[in-house]
Amino acid sequence: MKKYLRLMVEVVLGLLLAGALAFGYWSYTGKTHAMHELTDASEGMSEAQEELDKLTKELAETKEKVDELEPAAKELAAVKDSFANGVVLQDYEAFIKAQKGQIISERQLGLGALRLLTKGAQDPETVSAFQKALEMAEWSSRLKSICAAQNALAAAGQKVKVLADCAAEKEAGHGKKGGHAVHWDYAGEMGPENWGDEFPTCGKGLKQSPLNITGPFEKSKDTLVVNYKEGPLKILNNGHTIQVNVEPGSTLKINKDVYNLLQFHFHRPSEEQIDGKPMAMVAHFVHKNAEGKLAVLGVLLNEGKDNEAINVLWDNAPKSEGPEVMPEKVKFNPTSLVPAALTHYSYEGSLTTPPCTEGVNFYILKTTVDIAKKQVADFPFKRNARPVQPLNGRKINAN
Ligand SMILES: [Zn+2]
Repeated sequence: MKKYLRLMVEVVLGLLLAGALAFGYWSYTGKTHAMHELTDASEGMSEAQEELDKLTKELAETKEKVDELEPAAKELAAVKDSFANGVVLQDYEAFIKAQKGQIISERQLGLGALRLLTKGAQDPETVSAFQKALEMAEWSSRLKSICAAQNALAAAGQKVKVLADCAAEKEAGHGKKGGHAVHWDYAGEMGPENWGDEFPTCGKGLKQSPLNITGPFEKSKDTLVVNYKEGPLKILNNGHTIQVNVEPGSTLKINKDVYNLLQFHFHRPSEEQIDGKPMAMVAHFVHKNAEGKLAVLGVLLNEGKDNEAINVLWDNAPKSEGPEVMPEKVKFNPTSLVPAALTHYSYEGSLTTPPCTEGVNFYILKTTVDIAKKQVADFPFKRNARPVQPLNGRKINAN
């Protein structure tokens, strides 16, 4: 009987994959805010707009798939009840446990799909099964499976870099410059003065960042409380900056509003200027609250003493563009880059990289943090700062 069950499970795996794909698609179309989830991952993740374009295309392709798969999906719904008692899941888990050596990612994905059917999308183990499937997946192949798993995770409300990873995979075959991707840069033809050609808000927006911070100031009434936690270091070179992705649990409280830290990244020199002068670098901590509103905490890095925290980051940062790496046994607490005093300048602004989306509140700390000259020189991007943007009547607050 067990053997028969196993066989049956292997056979329905294809069906389950189809289910994951359909599930992701349905959830996307049902939840437009998933789109925001994707953009917001990205103050520094940068190519958000083009990723969104790709998503739209991908969704269209997926829809075709889903239509093809609809009969199978219906069948799946019928099969679903038979999974509800958990017997199949238990058996399949036992089967996977009994496998010698590496579990192939499809099986892990199948496990996720089975959990999804048995326990639902909100079940933490469902989520971790899909996450594991992602970790195991080979980036050079199985794009569809990966995207299906990512979509399922995103639909379950998990932060995953759905498009970045799916899209990066697609691009690999095309070559970086030759493909259909809209490119942007900090100099040359696709430099900041031309971003507006491809990303209208960058050119037409009236509340753009960064700013030259200079008085007169209005009084800032905002109180900040930083509560960042130590976690595994997840770091990447996205071709525009060094970015550290942060696991859920680190927060910035602005008055009573709680913002979750998503990621932080660096610009050289600092994008913000104080009285017309940039600092050596700036760290941007990108947060989002439950309503999807973004807030960026800026820590200006001033040339001075060696910075221990920066050493940890630079030692582990990939030298060239590529996916996130998680070096073993390296822990990092973002607090180590934040000064104790949180007095600040604040203003309404935008993402400082395309698509330059507005509605982002900036808090630039007055207290700077030291970085050694050599550490600045070791940052792999010579210049990755957007020029300061017109104030257009905005008020800058200070406390
Ligand atoms: Zn930034």
